[in-house]
Amino acid sequence: MLEGLDPEQREVATALQGPVCVLAGAGTGKTRAITHRIAYGVRAGILQPSSVLAVTFTNRAAGEMRGRLRQLGAAGVQARTFHSAALRQLQYFWPKAVGGSMPRLVDRKIQLVADAAAACRIRLDRGELRDVTGEIEWSKVTQTVPSEYAPAAAKAGRESPRDPAEIAQLYSAYEDLKRARAVIDFEDVLLLTVAVLQDRHDIAEQVRSQYQHFVVDEYQDVSPLQQRLLELWLGDRENLCVVGDASQTIYSFTGATPDHLLDFRTRHPGATVVKLVRDYRSTPQVVHLANGLLAQARGRAADHRLELVSQRAAGPEPVYSEYPDEPAEAEGAARRIRELMDSGVRASEIAILVRTNSQSETYEQALADAGVPYQLRGAERFFDRPEVRKAGVALRGAARFGGNDSLLDDVVDLPSQVRAVLSGEGWTTEPPAGSGAVRERWESLAALVNLAQDFSASRPGATLSDLVAELDERASAQHAPTVEGVTLASLHSAKGLEWDVVFLVGVAEGMMPITYAKTDEQIEEERRLLYVGVTRARERLHVSWALSRSPGGRPNRRPSRFLDGLRPGSVGAAARSAASGSGGVERGFTTSRADTAPRRRQRTPARCRVCGRTLTDAGEMKLMRCEDCPSDMDEGLYERLREWRALQAQRSGQPAFCVFTDKTLMAIAETVPDDEGELARIPGVGTRKLNRFGADVLAICAGQELGGEETEN
Ligand code: ATP
Ligand code: MG
Repeated sequence: MLEGLDPEQREVATALQGPVCVLAGAGTGKTRAITHRIAYGVRAGILQPSSVLAVTFTNRAAGEMRGRLRQLGAAGVQARTFHSAALRQLQYFWPKAVGGSMPRLVDRKIQLVADAAAACRIRLDRGELRDVTGEIEWSKVTQTVPSEYAPAAAKAGRESPRDPAEIAQLYSAYEDLKRARAVIDFEDVLLLTVAVLQDRHDIAEQVRSQYQHFVVDEYQDVSPLQQRLLELWLGDRENLCVVGDASQTIYSFTGATPDHLLDFRTRHPGATVVKLVRDYRSTPQVVHLANGLLAQARGRAADHRLELVSQRAAGPEPVYSEYPDEPAEAEGAARRIRELMDSGVRASEIAILVRTNSQSETYEQALADAGVPYQLRGAERFFDRPEVRKAGVALRGAARFGGNDSLLDDVVDLPSQVRAVLSGEGWTTEPPAGSGAVRERWESLAALVNLAQDFSASRPGATLSDLVAELDERASAQHAPTVEGVTLASLHSAKGLEWDVVFLVGVAEGMMPITYAKTDEQIEEERRLLYVGVTRARERLHVSWALSRSPGGRPNRRPSRFLDGLRPGSVGAAARSAASGSGGVERGFTTSRADTAPRRRQRTPARCRVCGRTLTDAGEMKLMRCEDCPSDMDEGLYERLREWRALQAQRSGQPAFCVFTDKTLMAIAETVPDDEGELARIPGVGTRKLNRFGADVLAICAGQELGGEETEN
């Protein structure tokens, strides 16, 4: 059991009595050390499996820990989130503590907040509802009562989505309504468990006699309420082992704080404190960048940073790529992923990490275009978001009215029409102040407005109906069922996880740090978020940014300040140490311009083969002509290609667009290639698809019937 651990990890595993605190950087084996610790204690007969409670922060992490413990021969140990552990205890003790059975958990909290708002005669739109709900949640986990909300929020530097007095009023009405309806919410589960353990010594004793040993992973993100619960579980005992990395504190905005981790020794003077610095996860190249980021960090968490030392063999240098615009950046990432997969890297070993949900649409589209299967984690698919669906309904409605909608009477061009329709959905020229749900919702609508602008620039004369058709096509491509795929996740949801290859995208000022991070603390939390992102990579790390949002836009963005002095060609405090450590620089270490593939596009701008206009829209580039230039497509051939594609998709169990997208099939039906060379020149074909499908496609183009043998297998 102890063999798979280094000396410091072994110290953690064998210190089974008394308080233990592990302060260590990313990838140093904290999670591994605590699972081995529990397993070692159980197998050595020192710990009773049923007396151990291991706590983590997500259900996924808890499930993974249970799995690892089972593998290590320590089944029967409870590994839970704070919430699920509390819920179990509350359910069990409710009849004794309160009487009757536990109230139902409210399933639609937002609705309850809406009802509370109605009771207070305060009108909240959807986004505000979500933001106010966030404020109520924050108040509860920081144990702030309604009357204290305003001063507490001001002290914590929170940007309230409404007048703080109104939020306090809503919070109070929400609590009343819950009580009247005899329901409790997620936070109440912790609050009530705390209350029961505080008030009822007999129950507290019963819980304490059951659990003798506590282990907490990711302790830097513990909230004051969770900390209180932990203290009540412990009582006056000290068999507590906590592990965490203050440099990975990324949930301060929800009320979490690394102070409990950093002050552990003060609260437990006899604690065994172990520091781990060997990084087993990442190559020296990745670790070098992570250390460089931390070297520039400021604040309390940064004062406790530890320099990581990679234990792995050298790997490729991080690749930095600059792109002219966001779609090009997304296409660049998708293309590299395609190449990696073609060279044998499994899709599940690759991740693209984004800062905000609003970035995901561009990546979903680029991956779909490149035929790369993907799955989303911690982010909702763009076209599934309620505001996007609602906006779609509004646009469809307006399109049906044609020019007869009075709203659109005086508006002729498509982007203005879209702006007019979406104003009704809450879109405004300037983004709303602050962060949170209102901002995210605005970002979604702004993404639709931008999409309409790009669309109409590439298709002069396009109507609202054309746009609606385009949105439908995109939505259906993205809704294709996912198989094992590349992970597209937010940086926040990537905590604790690891992949061989990680793409950190949108690493530009405004996104990283995000525009609404204003205070020094907020900026530092953004830096930590980037550190979390970098340290998810085992071997390959791709960092990229775009100079402008859309093709042809003003290139007024600059790479994130956090990379200053770390990426080659930039100046910063750490420049010298970065340069001295980077050793053999591998290919692709470019900063002046985009890496190879986008550069190829820039050298030879794609032109419409009918009218000769320069093409900027990804879809038109695939078609090799403007969408509205006359098409000489062989409709019959197109239909035959589509039938063939459906069969291929069915056989491989992949969505049809992974074989070829509609646009690529159209381009094939228009070009009618005679040989492989001609087929290869069609965008979206590529070497892999040429090898796999080239013969079939050329045969269909030559008018041959594919033999039964070929179509059956
Ligand atoms: P994070 O801060 O990101 O949560 P962590 O400190 O919890 O990271 P782990 O996830 O436990 O780190 O470990 C990182 C990787 O290193 C895992 O793949 C783990 O199996 C491996 N690892 C950890 N310790 C050792 C060791 N002593 N020998 C070999 N591999 C190890
Ligand atoms: Mg971990």
